[in-house]
Amino acid sequence: MKIAILSRNSNLYSTRRLKEAGEALGHEISIIDTLHCYMDITSNKPAVRYKGEALPWFDAIIPRIGASITFYGTAVVRQFEMMGTFSVNESVAISRSRDKLRSLQLLSRKGVGLPKTGFARHPDNIQDLIANVGGAPVVIKLLEGTQGIGVVLADTEKAAESIIEAFMGLNANILVQEFIKEAGGADIRCFVIGDKVVAAMKRQAANGEFRSNLHRGGSAEIVRLSKEERATAVNAAKIMGLGICGVDILRSNRGPVVMEVNSSPGLEGIETATGKDVAQMVIQHIEKNAKPYATRTRG
Ligand code: ADP
Ligand code: GLU
Repeated sequence: MKIAILSRNSNLYSTRRLKEAGEALGHEISIIDTLHCYMDITSNKPAVRYKGEALPWFDAIIPRIGASITFYGTAVVRQFEMMGTFSVNESVAISRSRDKLRSLQLLSRKGVGLPKTGFARHPDNIQDLIANVGGAPVVIKLLEGTQGIGVVLADTEKAAESIIEAFMGLNANILVQEFIKEAGGADIRCFVIGDKVVAAMKRQAANGEFRSNLHRGGSAEIVRLSKEERATAVNAAKIMGLGICGVDILRSNRGPVVMEVNSSPGLEGIETATGKDVAQMVIQHIEKNAKPYATRTRG
């Protein structure tokens, strides 16, 4: 098959591994820089142009669209979908996953376990907002944050109020969330392909830190999931409409709760922690599912 990886940088671990794994299985792999694609969107024969020529037909694309280029990146993916190319993650699902509030609302509607969460912009009654998620301690998150930046633990009501007021002063959208203390500073990354969790790791926060992000000094190791955890991750992926994703869950007293679903999950952490060839499993998923016009959305 001819497979394109949409990626800004061919040196990234995930991009390199996917190329390697695809070639090892006998496929022709091209790495296409998403932001350098351009297209005539009015033509009735949709095509994607790159470096002065129309790209050839690809059986499948693997979009690796960073959060900062979601808008342009999903337009490129959509163009491939209109041509009938199979995308491991559909453009609509990528957009959906990039909106944290929309994601939580959709997951909640289908009864997926979530931390009790409020969201607000300019609440007139901050105490009520805090009380509504069970009172302090609470976790307050900037909606636009990544890698744990903009995620704050407020131990007391007073601290929570001050932080919320400060964020209000910045005109930010915020999430106020029940603090899952019993997770003990750990979260679980479930790597989902199709309807299976193919690898899972537990990320543990550094001493004195509650955020388990590897960028915040956390460490990762392989973990065994319960049946319920597997089902939760697979269900979340399905609701989001993502073929390949990372589902982050916390182990709470009332079972697994989903924190977020990532549509471009990195391979380095999960392959290193688990020793599994996740890249190969991605390619095998494509072998099974990439038929022309097999994506549900046509943009
Ligand atoms: P980001 O998307 O920036 O990584 P997250 O919402 O994933 O932000 O939060 C970062 C980390 O903080 C999580 O990986 C988790 O370890 C911890 N954390 C986040 N929310 C909660 C919560 N409600 N209860 C306990 N720990 C949390
Ligand atoms: N963008 C980063 C990565 O791909 C972090 C997202 C994630 O936790 O998977 O590694």
